[in-house]
Amino acid sequence: MGGSERNAEAKQTLFDAIDQRHDELVETIASLVRIPSLLGDERPVQEWVAGHMEGSRLSPELWEIDDSVLTLPNAGNSGVPFAGRPNVTGRRPGKGGGRSLILNGHVDVVSPDPVDAWSYDPWAATIAGNRMFGRGANDMKSGVGMNLMLPRLLADSGIDLLGDLTVHSVIEEECTGNGSLAASLRDRADAALVTEPLGDTIVTGHLGVIWFRVHITGQSAHAGWAWQGVNAITKSIPVMQALQQLDADFNVDVHPLFAHLHHPVNLNIGVITGGDWPSTVPGACDLHCRVSLYPGTTVPELRATIEQAIAAAAAGDEWLAAHPPVLTWDGFQTEGVLLDQDSDFVRVLDAANQEVTGRPLGREVGTAVNDMRYYLFAGVPSTCFGADGGDSHAADEWLDLDSLQPAMKTMAAFIVDWCGVA
Ligand SMILES: [Zn+2]
Repeated sequence: MGGSERNAEAKQTLFDAIDQRHDELVETIASLVRIPSLLGDERPVQEWVAGHMEGSRLSPELWEIDDSVLTLPNAGNSGVPFAGRPNVTGRRPGKGGGRSLILNGHVDVVSPDPVDAWSYDPWAATIAGNRMFGRGANDMKSGVGMNLMLPRLLADSGIDLLGDLTVHSVIEEECTGNGSLAASLRDRADAALVTEPLGDTIVTGHLGVIWFRVHITGQSAHAGWAWQGVNAITKSIPVMQALQQLDADFNVDVHPLFAHLHHPVNLNIGVITGGDWPSTVPGACDLHCRVSLYPGTTVPELRATIEQAIAAAAAGDEWLAAHPPVLTWDGFQTEGVLLDQDSDFVRVLDAANQEVTGRPLGREVGTAVNDMRYYLFAGVPSTCFGADGGDSHAADEWLDLDSLQPAMKTMAAFIVDWCGVA
């Protein structure tokens, strides 16, 4: 039997198994949703993931991220220690001679608050019609469940791949990306698929994101003699005006791949803290901000631009010139990425989706980050592809159960064509 016949036979076996075992996939995703996995509390769900991998002979390894990751380029800092919050790696070694693949999914979810806005218990994985409701049902326990079921179907069908198949189940996608940063450096592969739920659309690139704080010092005084003090809140006004000007400037010379989007780069002054008493002139004020950056701009370059803008604003004010605002950097600190769309990786994935759905994959660029960037930074072609749903990060988050079978079949066809069948 030739390679293409072997591949066709393997695909048909997997497609049949995907149809027959649809309920098992749905129950796998529901089991993941029923284990809450907010930032700092990822261990129970990772133990469940490792247990499922055992049943697929993936030799799971639970491993903790080393603190040295925090010093790497594009690392962030959530402030939560890594101890007790493992990543999980599972491996299905190939027979040799094929291309290797990583399937990546994150288990961390954002808070369901305010819970009284939900029509369903966010941790119950309630199914109504063709939807599953729950925090993480869509983003992205749908993808983690598919990443677990595909190796299970391969094992149960006795299909051996030529290339290695590795599954990464990671933490901290929603605040830093450190889970995938560490995983991308630990395991190399010829491609990595991040199964974020975007339907049959792939991400061809996304902006980077950094967070920063600006600390403005004033001089406190009794408000009855306010002229004796310096109000740090009102002294923040020229700083905020400079930041608003930067936001406008960043959207003048727009990167060509983002030019079709309205206002792609957003500098958001998200939190302002200052003062503690109406009758006291505030002695300090802090701005906590988020801004994105085009692929090709480095984090140090953007930091320098922000530093210059704030220094210029301070130079125009006698007090601020003598007491310069202090900048610090926390949370996301990552560049953006672009995927080479002419790569074999995209061509094979596109063909797999065409074969299953009769449609080419959609393409989009993102104005927010996802974990594909770390594989791309490591020189591994990567994109997002997965199930479909809605209201991620919102009340009544839902997964479209009808999207699972086509997504699984595209993934199965892609794995067969990419890794090869022994
Ligand atoms: Zn996600």
